[in-house]
Amino acid sequence: MILLDLNIEELKELLAPYDCRSFRAQQVYKWLANGCDFSEMSDLPKSLRDKLGENHTAQPIVILESIKSKDSSVKFLYRLIDGNIIEGVFMPHDYGNTLCVSTQVGCRMGCEFCASGIGGLVRNLSAGEILGQVTAVNRFLGGNVSDRKIMNIVLMGSGEPLDNFDNVVKFIDLVSAPYGLNIGKRSVSLSTCGLTEKMRELADLGLGVTLSVSLHATLDEYRRKLMLIANKYSVTDVIAAARYYFQKTGRRVIFEYSMVKGVNMSFLDAKRLAELTKGMSAHINLIMLNKVEGKNIAGCTKQEGERFCEKLRELGVSATVRRSMGSDVAGACGQLRRSRING
Ligand code: SF4
Repeated sequence: MILLDLNIEELKELLAPYDCRSFRAQQVYKWLANGCDFSEMSDLPKSLRDKLGENHTAQPIVILESIKSKDSSVKFLYRLIDGNIIEGVFMPHDYGNTLCVSTQVGCRMGCEFCASGIGGLVRNLSAGEILGQVTAVNRFLGGNVSDRKIMNIVLMGSGEPLDNFDNVVKFIDLVSAPYGLNIGKRSVSLSTCGLTEKMRELADLGLGVTLSVSLHATLDEYRRKLMLIANKYSVTDVIAAARYYFQKTGRRVIFEYSMVKGVNMSFLDAKRLAELTKGMSAHINLIMLNKVEGKNIAGCTKQEGERFCEKLRELGVSATVRRSMGSDVAGACGQLRRSRING
């Protein structure tokens, strides 16, 4: 059993046959949230540490590699217990350090601009495997539960979070638990390619996380060229689900929009974006694409991106061009993992 998969109540139950005193679960959980292994849990009797170590796993991932970019973001490559490899990126921001975490090994959504989907989905990550990325990096940066080095979480690494719904919801509960890392749910952003039923289900749960929707085009015809999922859900469906999320939670919805020259950056695109997001609190994150090896897709220049952003603002749309972090260290989703798998 991976102990990071458990909440405090489940941990109490697991520990009961070993030591039924109620404070034990709190003690163990604190060590787990600090990224520690059983051998480091110094306020536990050695016999208990040994027994737990024989039967269970404390931390489900190890950091294989960390590569610092010129812009101070750090790309991480992790190994899971079964040998699978995932990645993430730490981004220092003025508004608080942010960790981007993966939710699946690979992805089955097959977006044209993304390296994570190239080999398809391998498997879902458990809640503890997602949390393990946070505990490992927080520790790597010299943090612990009372002095956190990570303030915000974005579920934007490899995988579609809503395709691994139950584990992701449990992760959000665990990472925000006051007895653990205590990162507020409002400091968690979940990015989806637009699985509309699951977006509504998430809205109904009322967790209050920020929802970020990969829109990337205003017309189905173009969206289908970029995203396989657009064959299942139309732009209208996706916008309706995003609107539902806003109405249910009152949270501003973020739309991710990767700018592709000659495909989705015309004045008409800007006008349609304004129309689609009218009447809801929304922000458009315009993305400068990192070059992805094995994908034949071009982005745009900085000036072209800024011009498109200006057009949107003139139409009253809240929009910014997202700083592309880590492009010198394979910063785009799935690139580093692929380079490692391909040798
Ligand atoms: S962008 Fe996200 S949903 Fe699309 S293939 Fe990549 S990881 Fe999957």
